[in-house]
Amino acid sequence: MNLLREYDVEFVKLKDGLHSFEFNLEDSFFKAFNSSLLVDHIKVHLDFLKSPSMFTLTFRIDGDLKSECDRCLNDITLPVHGQYVLLVKVTEQELEDQDDLIYINSAAHKINVSQPIFDYIHLLLPIKKTCTDVGLKCNPEITGKITMLIDVDTVGDDIPDRDTDDDEEE
Ligand SMILES: [Zn+2]
Repeated sequence: MNLLREYDVEFVKLKDGLHSFEFNLEDSFFKAFNSSLLVDHIKVHLDFLKSPSMFTLTFRIDGDLKSECDRCLNDITLPVHGQYVLLVKVTEQELEDQDDLIYINSAAHKINVSQPIFDYIHLLLPIKKTCTDVGLKCNPEITGKITMLIDVDTVGDDIPDRDTDDDEEE
């Protein structure tokens, strides 16, 4: 079963002109991409402007994600707000998609917008997810313990400072 079927836009059924769609993302959306991100609430508004050979899709993303602080593991809320425009060209040719322009075969009758939404949300997320990035303070108990552990670890043992912030990718 395709969990992301609700993100199909059946454009053959649409007249030329502007159409609006609204998606409320849930955790299942991120699970379908094998992502560990959790949703607080995220609303995606899509303006779909249809013309005979080209569609202009404007995504407005608005909401919050739940995450753990990279440093102290406190639960934090990450705001995601942004707007992106994606052009979709209908063509017979086999052309390579670009960042903001994708090609769709003229035989197609629908387009699934889950991948661009997923990509845009990642563009909106901060690279470092820590309390300080969302205006909070890290839990001093945890950060204190981590500092102590590092101190003990490195006593008499010439290990250079380890960078613990390199694990952004899953
Ligand atoms: Zn923190």
